[in-house]
Amino acid sequence: MDLGAERIIRRLNEAGYEAYAVGGCVRDALMGSEPHDWDITTSAVPETVKRLFSHTFDTGIEHGTVTVLSSGAAYEVTTFRIDGVYTDHRRPDSVTFAGSLYEDVARRDFTINAMAYHPDKGLIDYFDGQGDLKRKLIRCVGDPMKRFDEDALRMLRAVRFSAKLGFAIDSATWKAIVRLSDTIADVSKERILDEVTKTLVSDHPERLLLAETSGLAGEFCEEFKEKGVLEFEKLGLVRASRELRFAMLMRHMVPERAGAALRELKADNALRKGTVRLLEHIHDPLPKDEVSMRRLMHDAGRDLIPDLLDLRLAAEVDTEAGSKEAHALFALQKDMPVTLADLAVSGRDVIAQGVTLGKDVGECLEYLLNEVIKDPEKNTSDQLKQESKRWKTRKETLILPKTAEN
Ligand code: ATP
Ligand code: MG
Repeated sequence: MDLGAERIIRRLNEAGYEAYAVGGCVRDALMGSEPHDWDITTSAVPETVKRLFSHTFDTGIEHGTVTVLSSGAAYEVTTFRIDGVYTDHRRPDSVTFAGSLYEDVARRDFTINAMAYHPDKGLIDYFDGQGDLKRKLIRCVGDPMKRFDEDALRMLRAVRFSAKLGFAIDSATWKAIVRLSDTIADVSKERILDEVTKTLVSDHPERLLLAETSGLAGEFCEEFKEKGVLEFEKLGLVRASRELRFAMLMRHMVPERAGAALRELKADNALRKGTVRLLEHIHDPLPKDEVSMRRLMHDAGRDLIPDLLDLRLAAEVDTEAGSKEAHALFALQKDMPVTLADLAVSGRDVIAQGVTLGKDVGECLEYLLNEVIKDPEKNTSDQLKQESKRWKTRKETLILPKTAEN
């Protein structure tokens, strides 16, 4: 077991308290994968935990959690808990500190997440989590109807763990999800998006389909109600980036609707804009030459191109051969000037050439950029200064006859 976690457990034991590693870390360790963090559950109350360790900070003291630094890593140490009354199928109204490990693990969602481990006592598994790990099953601790009624988010967590681990959902647990799916509407969008995102970036993202077949998806997002807008197959063909997987999921939605769906789910701007930008260019003609590649880099954004090409290939917009050529084309063009910032001249240089009107400066720079995209050799200060002079003359001769008419 992890050294830092073991030290904390032993220190708490020496002071006369019970302490165990619990939850996801025990599950992951039993499955042979390295846990990304170790959570500790203890009979000591937060004040005691803070007194026993020199480096602590309050993370969720109202939930009984104190973060302890040990062996250079951070550990969440939480007092044995019983969740209080649940109203509205959301988080408990209050939490009470429980008397025992049993009570603490009994409030946890699934049997595989309700196991505890002690360096001397070994595994403590009240609900046969180990059996379910072997059977590859997501199964509620206790009566699924009751557990989902307490906290509807657990239904989506079942889908998330099914996707993360490649496990099936136990039939009683699944039936309860189908019956109670409409109650997911009571859960905050932030918590929902978090689980959907974790499902999408998992090893089995196509299992998000379970959120649709159970009726969950249509309840948490109005935009997802319509059948056929979400595409679950092939999600795993693109790398596990949130934007790419969301774009793959919503590849048959127009960008505006995908954006609206993400807005409804309270997605942050980076996620929403990144996904929409991918979808905006999913059907653009595939660049066949250097100039059209540079245009796409200008329009879509240089950094987006590799992901965009991968998305288009996975969505079968492009052929494998076409996609490969476009990747090669990008590799050659990736450092070419395609934005105003890449130009060898600035607004000030253009003004010095006599382009003085505010809106003309921008227009002239856009013109220069277009010239440079067509021919990057032109991107020298001298050539572009000459070019802005020519632009100015042409602009004046074009405008003059007009003003004469008026
Ligand atoms: P991951 O490795 O993906 O973080 P995890 O098991 O650590 O998986 P968390 O969401 O971090 O998952 O939750 C930590 C633990 O807290 C879970 O293993 C579970 O025991 C418990 N838990 C979390 N959320 C709930 C919930 N809504 N209802 C009941 N128990 C929960
Ligand atoms: Mg966790």
